[in-house]
Amino acid sequence: MNTKKLTVGISACLLGDEVRFDGGHKRSAFCDDELSRHVEFVRFCPEVGIGLPIPRPTIRLEKHDNDVHAVIPKTGANVTQKLSDFADKIQLKAQQLSGYVLCAKSPSCGMERVKLYDPDTGHAQKEAMGIFAARLRELNPALPLEEDGRLNDPHLRENFILRVWVYGHWQALPKPITKKALLDFHTRCKLLLLAHDQPAYRELGKRLGEAEKIDEAFAQQYIIDVMQALSEPASKRNHTNTLQHIQGYFKGQLSAQQKQELSEMILQYHDGILPIMAPLTLIRHYLREFPNDYLAQQWYIQPYPEDLKLRYGL
Ligand code: SF4
Repeated sequence: MNTKKLTVGISACLLGDEVRFDGGHKRSAFCDDELSRHVEFVRFCPEVGIGLPIPRPTIRLEKHDNDVHAVIPKTGANVTQKLSDFADKIQLKAQQLSGYVLCAKSPSCGMERVKLYDPDTGHAQKEAMGIFAARLRELNPALPLEEDGRLNDPHLRENFILRVWVYGHWQALPKPITKKALLDFHTRCKLLLLAHDQPAYRELGKRLGEAEKIDEAFAQQYIIDVMQALSEPASKRNHTNTLQHIQGYFKGQLSAQQKQELSEMILQYHDGILPIMAPLTLIRHYLREFPNDYLAQQWYIQPYPEDLKLRYGL
């Protein structure tokens, strides 16, 4: 990847823009103070983008038959199509993004569990996705999405940033993507896939091995499946297996004492005594001492800038 910052879309109110229905914002300190040092944010407010004023009457999602509509109860206006069309309108820009941070609970931007009202009873279930967010996902199925509230969870935060960086690597591949480029990309992803989703790790490897021809549809489905496999944080158990797998590469080089030290550290991580950074730091140390081309290119070992400090609490 070149050194240009990755671009990440974001709901404008999360950067402190006073664009919400009540004229306020929902500034996310993590996004505005920390993540902004590493990515270039591109902000969008779909509701302002479709011409609604600030402040404005609230929008709510209503279920009509099997369809979800965005309605302004005060005026009766239905803004579903306009909010959906706004995602189409920004699609050229969205294709350049490596991720998107959405504002939780919003009928336009919410990623999940947005209130969906039954217009007859007035009761709501938290089960919908915002109209803009749903269309954004439909148009960009591999694009990593996350909500501001979920980013307060260290595991979800780490997972989102990881996906953004992997997707950024994908976007940086020269187009059209050759089989060699795809195989190189896959090789670098291998330990990440092993840690996140072992069935996908096996299936994607097999699919690539059997592919005779790589065309755009194949490449597109491949990256959708990779991003899906990475979409859940890796479990402690799977990280432990992956670390032990890495340890196997040093078999012939480490002394008995060094092997034991690394094994114990991996087990202490597994038992919650040490963070994952402890065995990983030792592995990186051994990697400098005993260079290994395969391990050196694994994004698992260094997936994103170190000073984001995302793995310290894991
Ligand atoms: S949640 Fe989305 S639509 Fe609502 S103010 Fe924020 S950016 Fe605008």
